[in-house]
Amino acid sequence: MNYHIALIPGDGIGPEIVAEARKVLDRIAEKYGHKFEYEELLLGGASIDATGVPLTDGTVAAAKKSDAVLMGSIGGDTTTSPWYKLAPELRPEAGLLKIRKELNLFANLRPAVLYDELKAACPLRDEIIGDGFDMLIMRELTGGLYFGERKTFEENGLTTAVDTLTYNENEIRRIAIRGFDVARKRRKKVTSVDKANVLDSSRLWRKVVQEVAADYPDVTLEHMLVDNCAMQLVKNPGQFDVILTENMFGDILSDEASMVTGSIGMLSSASLNDTKLGLYEPSHGSAPDIAGEGIANPIATILSAAMLLRYSLDLDQEADAVEAAVKQVLKEGYRTADIASEGCSPVGTVEMGDLIAERI
Ligand code: NAD
Repeated sequence: MNYHIALIPGDGIGPEIVAEARKVLDRIAEKYGHKFEYEELLLGGASIDATGVPLTDGTVAAAKKSDAVLMGSIGGDTTTSPWYKLAPELRPEAGLLKIRKELNLFANLRPAVLYDELKAACPLRDEIIGDGFDMLIMRELTGGLYFGERKTFEENGLTTAVDTLTYNENEIRRIAIRGFDVARKRRKKVTSVDKANVLDSSRLWRKVVQEVAADYPDVTLEHMLVDNCAMQLVKNPGQFDVILTENMFGDILSDEASMVTGSIGMLSSASLNDTKLGLYEPSHGSAPDIAGEGIANPIATILSAAMLLRYSLDLDQEADAVEAAVKQVLKEGYRTADIASEGCSPVGTVEMGDLIAERI
């Protein structure tokens, strides 16, 4: 099959890690008889330098036309880069927020996986880690508190601020369907996280999730309050498969989940809309402190490419092959500097990409 993939290298280590993900995709194409055509697009600082704005209409149009978008990361050193002297709407991050909105990416998927070989990096004790964990946070990305009405005003001589948390049933239903669909491709368990003991929006969330669950009798559903979930993530992370939650809870819980893996350079992410189009990127930023040194870990981006194969192109076998190759390379003891441990074989960005491509 022929696929059209938009590549956004971005800033900092972005171009280095995207090059390795492309190498891995090329190996997949060769092995499984696909044709991937790439189109490089500008976003963030790279776009500001070339065009004066962090996102152009041309980038949006090209991304919309593609089958999927693979991004490195955008942004620079926020204290020294001239990009951060610009008005907020002209800074690199504004481009990312805008493209997410333009593509209507309402579902954010962030896996948090503890690899056997990297257990030493996990900040949790061995008896808590147990057999490890492999969870995915499905976060609603375009509704809730971050998009509700907000204002700051004076009342009775006091400065007062209000933010509004709004969800309608359709917004909840579409993310719930995504959550159950993804659970079907995994271990078939959904933990829906809310604050239904306090919030009306959470009570609606729980009701709609329950209704959606009826169409997925093969998937187990449990409800959990968000404060309990925050505790359970560090008490017994192995219990989770898919955590389904709204925007703000997902923002906080996904960072907590990624930190318990201990290895930011390993964590992928996907943002999806209700077509097959998705934007795939590592969970980490552009790491300007190590840009150009050839030492960045490309695995998060390579695993994001695996998610692209799975969720936008429906190429599950190919995605499995990429994930297996990553595990194999770790098993053989190869490590970039950020995940290095005693007795391992240190490699740079390019060598790590080569090894993973070779093991496919
Ligand atoms: P960061 O994730 O870029 O870096 C945090 C630390 O992790 C640094 O020490 C960095 O060297 C290290 N690190 C990150 N990725 C790594 C990798 N693949 N291999 C090895 N080490 C890695 O976070 P930050 O320093 O807070 O942000 C830097 C820039 O990235 C900022 O401009 C920020 O706005 C931007 N950012 C962009 C995205 C995105 O593109 N989605 C996300 C987060 C931050």
